[in-house]
Amino acid sequence: MAHRALEQHISVDITNKKRCDETGWGLYASRKIAAREAIISIERPLVISLDIPRLKDTCYECLGYGSEAYRKPETIAWEEDKKLQVCTGCHVVRYCSKECQTLSWKSVHKHECSLFARLHPNILPNNVRAVVQLLLLRKAVRLPRGEWDDFMNLESHLQQWESRNGRQWEDIGLMARGTKEYAETNLSEETLREVFGKLLVNCFTMVSPFYDPLGLVLHPLAALVNHSCNYNAFVRFDTSSHCLSIIALRPIARDEQIVVSYIDATNPRHVRQKELQDKYFFDCACSKCSDYVTKEEGVPQLPESSEHLLVEQRAFELLAAAQKDTSITGPIQKCQYGIHILRKTGAWPLHRQPLASLRQQLVVSLIAAGQIHLALVHAWIQYQSIDPKLLTEKHHPIRLVHLWLVIVLLKRIYFDSLSPTDLPIQKYGITSKSIIYTNLIDHLHWALMRRVEHDDGTFAQVVRHQFIQQAHSAVKMDDFLKEAEKLKACTTEILEKELVWGESGAAA
Ligand SMILES: [Zn+2]
Ligand SMILES: [Zn+2]
Ligand SMILES: [Zn+2]
Repeated sequence: MAHRALEQHISVDITNKKRCDETGWGLYASRKIAAREAIISIERPLVISLDIPRLKDTCYECLGYGSEAYRKPETIAWEEDKKLQVCTGCHVVRYCSKECQTLSWKSVHKHECSLFARLHPNILPNNVRAVVQLLLLRKAVRLPRGEWDDFMNLESHLQQWESRNGRQWEDIGLMARGTKEYAETNLSEETLREVFGKLLVNCFTMVSPFYDPLGLVLHPLAALVNHSCNYNAFVRFDTSSHCLSIIALRPIARDEQIVVSYIDATNPRHVRQKELQDKYFFDCACSKCSDYVTKEEGVPQLPESSEHLLVEQRAFELLAAAQKDTSITGPIQKCQYGIHILRKTGAWPLHRQPLASLRQQLVVSLIAAGQIHLALVHAWIQYQSIDPKLLTEKHHPIRLVHLWLVIVLLKRIYFDSLSPTDLPIQKYGITSKSIIYTNLIDHLHWALMRRVEHDDGTFAQVVRHQFIQQAHSAVKMDDFLKEAEKLKACTTEILEKELVWGESGAAA
């Protein structure tokens, strides 16, 4: 007897699927859509697969956080740490509760647990686990109706992978061969290569409500949404409901195509073009790419000097190295040096990439090193001076997370009574003893509350939940401005120091 397929709830009533000349299929608005409106919501995406490190600290079922909170600063003080229990069958996946384990077992894990156990301590990479799970569920007739066919109709770009004949083509071959054995499928290796190609070009990065990468997520319908660097919508994954949504960033007109960005669209044009070609095999012809002299966030083009391009390249390398560096001070120094060489040229406003990304990484690294005050100053620069230019919509999800980060850092300093160790901050009297601190926190939290009004996503829920939990004082605008003034003076000094190497903040 065949099992009943998993239930699936999808709401797409405000879109039409149409063919367009340049990009093949695309999704179009069937009526006017307001900013922040949900365009598509998919309750159980076809594929959800955690990155290997996340298997250790994330519940396999509810995707809640585990006890070894690795998370980036955005998530500190979000929810109680939960103790995760490892599955005693495979020792690979972990759960926060018996309920989660039971749910997961019934829906997917009973099909794969013995395979994971057989391979342990080796753990399959997320894309192989994703395909193996897809094939096992298909064999057990547990896939939502029609979704396998929809998936198989997606583009795989297999010929392009093959003609490129690089490392990735080799990987696809290896993964297909392995999967044939693991999933004991009668599909040919050729078909399995197709399946991997489709997965690689059509999946999205699954992110937490705070935009930490968790793994990958795919649904054939969401895969129809095309890319533009000048996007009008964004992808959201709500961990609490497992819901994959496409949300309008701006008002969208009837018959306008719905487009999201597959990459970091704040990067310079040549970086975006290369990334899109490497990963998705197309040259972007969006309005931002074709009209890049005026559309790059109002930043004048870099002078066509090779000197500037070399500095830019070096700074991107430093950013990549900082992201990989697991030491305490290494990433801080790399970011600070990258920031320094860019700013020294005089050609990099604070929001031109990769300067903005280096500062974002610096904030993360400073928090990891316990330098909370300095992290606050840089997070403040990001929130006040960079985001409004780089991400123009006030409710842009990344901007909201950055504002949240400022609030979380202020709260940590205030409630843990941390005293500043960094000189400029001591000088300006930004201390946790200040009563005005609570005003600052309250004022910003109010601002954030207004921006998530009518939003039912996990992030908005967390913001509201935390707001209700804390005591509030009446916000006095004068006091807020006084405190903000101190932060401003402090940021000015720190920004000036970045121009001189060896004196920027903690690098001294
Ligand atoms: Zn759970
Ligand atoms: Zn297991
Ligand atoms: Zn573009």
